[in-house]
Amino acid sequence: NPFRQAQYIMGAAELVQLPADAGIEVAFAGRSNAGKSSALNVLCEQKSLARTSKTPGRTQLINLFKLDEQRRLVDLPGYGFAKVSIDIKERWQATLSQYLQQRNCLQGLVVLMDIRHPLKDVDCQMLEWAAVAKLPTHVLLSKADKLKQGAAKSTLLKVKQQLKTIDPAFSAQTFSSLKRTGFDQLMNHLLQWFEY
Ligand code: GDP
Repeated sequence: NPFRQAQYIMGAAELVQLPADAGIEVAFAGRSNAGKSSALNVLCEQKSLARTSKTPGRTQLINLFKLDEQRRLVDLPGYGFAKVSIDIKERWQATLSQYLQQRNCLQGLVVLMDIRHPLKDVDCQMLEWAAVAKLPTHVLLSKADKLKQGAAKSTLLKVKQQLKTIDPAFSAQTFSSLKRTGFDQLMNHLLQWFEY
């Protein structure tokens, strides 16, 4: 697992602070509490690579982790906090959409959504930006352990149908950090994007 080597490099509050736009980046995004930090920690087999349970409203950073000199994992700030001001929300939306649309080294996007509440408006907004940017995107329906297998499967089917209307190339799977289900499927996407 090459992600075990992940090492924190920096947190960027603005796009200008990001490292040079070279090599390969793959970004993780999701509404706050979707399970993004847990997924990154499981992926990298590190207990607290990405901090879980962050305080809403605190300065949000684009956190970068390096795998090697050419490859970086990017933890995008959780979106959809209810408590932050409209001003801050709009600034972050602008930053996120610019990152998705302008970052040349960005090879793929993983969007996490709690399987019990998929495709909220903010998720669809994110997916629309990714579609406009023609960015390969893979959706993780997270916390799949919270649903029975049948319910998880039918949610996955529904989400896949809806994704098709946004961009037919987008893919989706169920995932659980707790049970580690869907790990191999996620890994396959990442290995391909990172050109391992
Ligand atoms: P983030 O805000 O997207 O980074 O979400 P976190 O990774 O901090 O997770 C939010 C909450 O969901 C925490 O209480 C986690 O313990 C819980 N959680 C995350 N992944 C899973 C999972 O796969 N299964 C279950 N049951 N809970 C999870």
